[in-house]
Amino acid sequence: MYGYEIFHQELMKTLIQSVRKDTSSHAYIFEGPKGLFIENCASLFASALVCGNQDTAPCGSCSSCIESKAKTNPDIIYVSPGDRKTIGAEKMRELEEDVAIKPFNSKHKVYIFEDGMLLTEAAQNVFLKTFEEPPEYAVFIIIIENASLLLDTILSRFTLINFSPVSNSVTEEYIKNHYPEEKERFDFLVRYCGGVPGRVDKIVEDEEFENLRTAALDFLPSLISHDRQRAFDFEKFFEEKRERIKEILDFVFIYLRDIVLIQSGVYDKVINVDKLDILRSIGAKYNPSNIINLSDRTIEAQKMIGRYVSPKAIALWLGL
Ligand SMILES: [Zn+2]
Repeated sequence: MYGYEIFHQELMKTLIQSVRKDTSSHAYIFEGPKGLFIENCASLFASALVCGNQDTAPCGSCSSCIESKAKTNPDIIYVSPGDRKTIGAEKMRELEEDVAIKPFNSKHKVYIFEDGMLLTEAAQNVFLKTFEEPPEYAVFIIIIENASLLLDTILSRFTLINFSPVSNSVTEEYIKNHYPEEKERFDFLVRYCGGVPGRVDKIVEDEEFENLRTAALDFLPSLISHDRQRAFDFEKFFEEKRERIKEILDFVFIYLRDIVLIQSGVYDKVINVDKLDILRSIGAKYNPSNIINLSDRTIEAQKMIGRYVSPKAIALWLGL
C-alpha cells in the first residue's frame, strides 16, 4: 500500500482519510502483536501527515513523501532509547525541547515510539505533563503489543487503534512472496504464525528453530509416560538450551494441543500438520488424561521460568 508493506489496508484508509479531512488527532496508540508490521503503518500514516498535498496525502511524489519513504524526513522522528535499555524521563525532556521547535517544511511533526514497552513510568508521566496541550502540529504515535501496560492516564488521552491478526490467506501470500522455498513446512508456518505473517521472518532466520521443535517431539512420549530412561538426556538438553526453555515448552504444549485435536477428529485446527503421522501414533498410544496431565505440568513449568527455577528442576517437574 503506497509502497509500504501493510496488512491492514482498510484501517489505514480510514486513518489516511482523517488526514485528508483534517480530523486526525494528536496522540495515537497503535496496539498489536509484533510481526504485523505496525511500524510500517505508523510510517505510512506519518507520511500522510507530513505530505505537501493534503487532499491526496500521501501523494508519493512530493519531496516530503520521498523523504518519508527513505526515513529521512526531518518532520518524522523515530524515538529510540539509543544506548540505553529504556526510554526514561530524561529522554522525554529532550523531546520536550524538540517538540517546541516548529516542523521544517510540513504541516505536522510526527513522533513515533516504535516500542512503547520501553517507556518507563517516569517517562510516561513526563509525557503527560509535557503534552497536556501539545502544539497544533505535533502528533505522537506509540506502538505497543499490549496497551494495558501503559498508564491509565496515557490510555485515556490517546486514541487507541487496534491491529488484529490477519487471516491465514494473508500469511500464505506473505510466505509465497518472501520465502518461495518454504514448501515443505508451508502449512505449518501458516498455522503457527496465527495471523501474524512477520513471525515467519524470525522462524526462517532462526537456525535452531527446527532443531528445538524436532527435539521437543522426540522427547514427548517419554514426558507423557514418565519414562525415566531418558531423564539424563532431557536434563542435558534443557541445560544446553537454557535460554530457550520457554520456546521448548511452547512446542510441547502445542504438540499436546494437536494430539487432543487429532484424538477428537478436529484436524483443521492442528498446527504441526507436517508431523501429523507421528502425532497420530502418539495420540493412539495414550489416553486424553495422560495428555491433559502433561499440559498442566507444562503450564506450571512455564511459570517456573519466570521464577528463575533451574533447568534441571524444570525438567524434573515435567516428569522425567
Ligand atoms: Zn506527498
